Amino acid sequence: REVMRLENLRKSYNVGRPNEVEVLHGIDLRVDSSDFAALVGPSGSGKSTLLNQIGLLDTPTGGELYLLGEPTSRMDDHARTAARGRHLGFVFQFHHLISAFTALENVMMPMMVSHGRPDRETSDRARSLLADVGLEKFADRRPTELSGGQQQRVAIARALVTRPALLLADEPTGNLDTRTAADVFKLFRRFHETHGCAVLLVTHDPRLAETCDRTITLVDGRIVN
Ligand code: ADP
Ligand code: ADP
Repeated sequence: REVMRLENLRKSYNVGRPNEVEVLHGIDLRVDSSDFAALVGPSGSGKSTLLNQIGLLDTPTGGELYLLGEPTSRMDDHARTAARGRHLGFVFQFHHLISAFTALENVMMPMMVSHGRPDRETSDRARSLLADVGLEKFADRRPTELSGGQQQRVAIARALVTRPALLLADEPTGNLDTRTAADVFKLFRRFHETHGCAVLLVTHDPRLAETCDRTITLVDGRIVN
């Protein structure tokens, strides 16, 4: 099933100013729910920019981006935010957990944003996701009381609580040691297989990229494979 499709997508920065620069030069890309894909390429090739477009965090300057078949160019900010909350999950290198909240509260956050006060179903689901990432005993700890790898596992559980169709991760293992990074990668794989959500990961690590089913290579703002 098609989750995301990009048609001739372009992105320029500083539009209308002397330093205007086009960073994505007409990207065509289709991501299906069966995809477990790595987005790779040299620094400055446009990976973060592309991920920001796919994540509806920024607006393209040309072309079209379809989310579950719906063109997104005509959506207003409110509709984009709603679509992002409903269909997309995010994991970043620096996980942006809320330090005043416990692990469980952090995992419930996206549901509280879209549904208001958490109900029993939300807290049950959050607990079950924490168990899936091996942190059931740590539900009441705050981020500072967890290791870097444990914090990243909380962030992964949080990204999945809304049952997204597409999970996006920008260097999710960038600040983890090799073994912890491999464990975190296995979690992505397991969630892909059990929840059926598409996964798109940006990584600099060729060994981790090799474990993905598909590699999308960006060079100077163009997909070269
Ligand atoms: P990557 O993630 O592959 O390192 P980026 O998407 O971060 O690449 O950057 C691609 C190019 O766009 C780089 O030349 C970068 O300097 C430029 N760029 C990224 N963000 C901005 C911005 N907000 N304003 C201007 N140029 C930017
Ligand atoms: P990454 O490790 O993701 O490639 P970068 O160093 O390229 O990180 O970019 C970090 C942040 O700075 C991003 O949010 C990007 O949009 C912004 N950025 C990158 N290059 C520029 C630039 N030339 N001008 C303004 N912002 C930039």
